[in-house]
Amino acid sequence: MNSDLTAAITLIGTSTVLNLFLCSYVYIKRRHFTRIANVFILHSFFSLIYCFGSVFALMSETMAQMTVWTVVLYAGMPFSAAMGLLFVITYLGIPFSKKASWLLMVVPFITFWMVATNDFHHLHYRVYELDPVLGAPYVHQEIGIWYVFHGLYTFGCMMAAFLLILTRWRETASTYRPQLLSLLVGQLIPIVTAFLYLVGLTPYGIDPVPMVLWLTSLFYLWSAATSRMFSLIPIAKDAIFNSINDGVAVLDQDGRIVEFNGTFAAMFPSVSSEMFGKSFQEVWPLLSGGAEPIKNVQLSMQQEIQLSGDDGRIHTYQVRTSHIQDVSKRKGWLLIFTDFTELKQLQDKLEHYAYYDELTGIYNRRAFFKHCEAALQSSLENKIPFTLILADLDHFKKINDTHGHAIGDEVLRHAAAVCRSFLSGQGWLARYGGEEFVIGLEGCTESEGAELAERLRKQLEDHPLHTAEGSITVTFSLGIAGAEAGKTLHQLLVEADKALYCSKETGRNRVTTSGRNSFEFTG
Ligand code: GH3
Ligand code: MG
Ligand code: MG
Repeated sequence: MNSDLTAAITLIGTSTVLNLFLCSYVYIKRRHFTRIANVFILHSFFSLIYCFGSVFALMSETMAQMTVWTVVLYAGMPFSAAMGLLFVITYLGIPFSKKASWLLMVVPFITFWMVATNDFHHLHYRVYELDPVLGAPYVHQEIGIWYVFHGLYTFGCMMAAFLLILTRWRETASTYRPQLLSLLVGQLIPIVTAFLYLVGLTPYGIDPVPMVLWLTSLFYLWSAATSRMFSLIPIAKDAIFNSINDGVAVLDQDGRIVEFNGTFAAMFPSVSSEMFGKSFQEVWPLLSGGAEPIKNVQLSMQQEIQLSGDDGRIHTYQVRTSHIQDVSKRKGWLLIFTDFTELKQLQDKLEHYAYYDELTGIYNRRAFFKHCEAALQSSLENKIPFTLILADLDHFKKINDTHGHAIGDEVLRHAAAVCRSFLSGQGWLARYGGEEFVIGLEGCTESEGAELAERLRKQLEDHPLHTAEGSITVTFSLGIAGAEAGKTLHQLLVEADKALYCSKETGRNRVTTSGRNSFEFTG
């Protein structure tokens, strides 16, 4: 065995051992790594087979041994290059389907099959025999058509992986650059070696690539051990960007669109990559279908906008901007659209129930106090009269007892509806308690209020509720209290309640003022 051969076997042996170590290292620690470690394990496993086959091919003494070990090395080499590309694709977070991954392996499978069955078709090697001068393990080979195709494919895979890493260099933060560097060098070493082999600058008859793979393995080992190649991955960026539930558009310093994520594209279907470089404000009318403009895109702001969605519903979006600076210190803006339609609806509903009575749909007691306290105060300050009417249904308990609670509820809704249509927006009408209603009237004196109350009393009396069980006539007893300087809403309510009590005491279905006058309707 000459010294060239001994050196080659030693180098390839080293590559085999290092690949075995790398493969086992990542395999054993795979639980601590992200999922891309699995693709890497496959890549280094195929490299291991490649080196293993190569070393035994070089130690072969007969043609039969050579043929077997060549088939073994071809069970590794073409797959290793394709797996290397797949690893880089996965690592960089480039969307790639399972089907496409399998497609990438089609050529390696064919190559393996071609080599294993070469004796029958000679498509891979036209001639493959022991070198007549040097003897085993040197071979005299003439390449076939498939060899060319396989060579281009393998070289193409390695180049593609290398270029893909290179394109990400600029946009990758410095934390990840050592990882990228080791991947770049790891890919470059076999590419350069294969190239030198092709142009005849390496020793005759021996494939030099496995001789340098130990260097690639060293780079990867270093990267896995020190720069956390499998636990800290830059792809997170793209994956996260596209999986955020918020629509995000990236704008440059001048407010031009630089990038948008998948959610943004779903929110605004008319957006397209042709809009890159265009001013966001200019394309916004097109994107939103003429919605209100977004103000101050280039300032930190928050705005609520409404847009009609694909589903025909009106969606409420919260729009926020956030100042950004990329790794090259270029400044820009993130425009973030959060669809909070559901939340807004819930919020509106909660707000509604906080101020409206669920059964009758009119204001509740809380809303009454909120509005009327302010209304009373401003009336007193502006010397405008203010009057309160308390109205209580007569013998309501009997309605519940006779017709049931459900009909009782119907009666309450009916009484509220009569009040509402009678007042038609005048005053503050609220459900004060169980079957008690209150009306705050701005600009209304006590006697005007009493007159109004009397007409309301008559209105209810004249409009019975029609039910399946027949008509039910209900009546109100009412108490009126007009405001005077210094009176609080609470005092006014006490007075109106006393007047109401008086109405009840004197026969119900009547109106009494705080001056204890039973009011006679004259109009
Ligand atoms: P009065 O003429 O003296 O006012 O007699 P009343 O029966 O109307 O008075 P009372 O205060 O004794 O009864 C009020 C009843 O209203 C008692 C309660 O069960 C009923 N009630 C209160 N809230 C509701 C409600 O939301 N739905 C129904 N169906 N009944 C209610
Ligand atoms: Mg009552
Ligand atoms: Mg009552």
